[in-house]
Amino acid sequence: MRHIAIIGSGPAGYYTAEAAQKQFGDDVRVDVIDRLPVPYGLIRFGVAPDHQSIKAVSRRYEGVALSENVRFVGNVMVGEDISIDELLGMYDAVILATGAPNDRDLGIPGSDLPGVFGSAAFVGWYNGHPDFADLEPPLEGKHVVIVGNGNVALDVARILSKTRVELGGSDIVSHALDMLETANTEEVTILGRRGPHQIAMTPKELGELGHLERACPYVDRADLPDEGEDMLLEPGLRKSVTCLREFAAIPESYRATKPISIEFDFFAAPVAIEGNGKVERIIVERTELDSELRSRGTGETYAIDCSMVVACIGYQTPSIEGVPYEHGRGRFANVEGRILPGLYCVGWARRGPSGTIGTNRPDGYMIIEAVADDIADGAGKQGRAALDELLEQRGIQIVKFSDWKKIEEAEIARAREGAPREKFVRIEDMIKAAN
Ligand code: NAP
Repeated sequence: MRHIAIIGSGPAGYYTAEAAQKQFGDDVRVDVIDRLPVPYGLIRFGVAPDHQSIKAVSRRYEGVALSENVRFVGNVMVGEDISIDELLGMYDAVILATGAPNDRDLGIPGSDLPGVFGSAAFVGWYNGHPDFADLEPPLEGKHVVIVGNGNVALDVARILSKTRVELGGSDIVSHALDMLETANTEEVTILGRRGPHQIAMTPKELGELGHLERACPYVDRADLPDEGEDMLLEPGLRKSVTCLREFAAIPESYRATKPISIEFDFFAAPVAIEGNGKVERIIVERTELDSELRSRGTGETYAIDCSMVVACIGYQTPSIEGVPYEHGRGRFANVEGRILPGLYCVGWARRGPSGTIGTNRPDGYMIIEAVADDIADGAGKQGRAALDELLEQRGIQIVKFSDWKKIEEAEIARAREGAPREKFVRIEDMIKAAN
């Protein structure tokens, strides 16, 4: 019998568990351990609440979770409740699928002012992550600045702009929905330090900005390269740029009918955030591209008055004591997923935060092939029996998948009309529902 512990129950974790089942059949026992009492990581806390069709992939993970040889072990913090060394003594392979839930630092003066948030915090707030339930972002101002030209920047701009009705079928948590409803936002500026041809936004997500009830995107034609140059782009990016061209062609008369403007400010890098005890303005430097298409400052700066800044500039994996870490890239130091004997990483914890949810599937299968090569038939370790004994000694109550199903049932029962669920945002409420 082989015993595998997977740390993290998001897409990387469950695709890896699925791969282990396929690879080893009945000759494996997999424990999927999560620090929260609820599964699915990024699917629950990262994917936008109005993108329910993307969240539906959790049904596939549920199929894996419900099988005999895979077990969900929620409410256990690896690195605090149990160490990596202890896990390595119990399991033939320990696979870190912890994702990249921490924000990268903007690293400019003033980025610690109240009113500046990373996207993990801001997205976590409207998605009901227990760590960010009390964020209380200042939404009374008219102008919000978003930094970054990726899909998360689009998610944040869209959620800030949608009406209560537009968010009707979403599972945005009520505390966020209520606050967003009273927001005074009139302008959302999306800063990109490079140009339209360097965006990391995908066409579907960009296109959604063109169909909002009370908001309209704005792109300055002057920022767009000659149309002929679009032919050199790969097809996905070309489509995205076509979206930007459509936004640039929206007539002023139409834009004037929308109370919120979502403005793309390209070649614009933040250099400082200023304000008296809170965000009042962001100082931006005009940039240009060097020969390697990196941004470089031109020395020309300007200020944008704003009351909130959300930095959507990518994420990093939290480090765990005793696990080699690559600081520059914000992920575990690894060679094709191998960290140390018996210790592996997969998904964003291995590659850094890029790619779609589906990218984690081949990743999971690849890591299980490496595990199969390394552990043969297993070394006679005790696996979950040893884990349960140790956690019981330490008084840690684990949350099983059947407990999660009770939490889920309670969340569905308390949903707003039209919404799929009302998430619990406090760990104690999750545990109460499980019991
Ligand atoms: P991302 O795609 O890596 O985009 C990060 C953006 O931040 C880039 O435009 C980057 O510009 C910019 N940036 C980085 N550091 C900066 C700095 N110091 N100052 C100014 N700008 C800076 O990251 P993401 O948007 O967080 O998305 C993470 C992953 O999740 C991506 O793979 C994304 O596609 C995926 N995702 C998908 C969906 C969806 O499919 N619906 C939704 C959300 C997220 P440079 O290019 O110049 O570095």
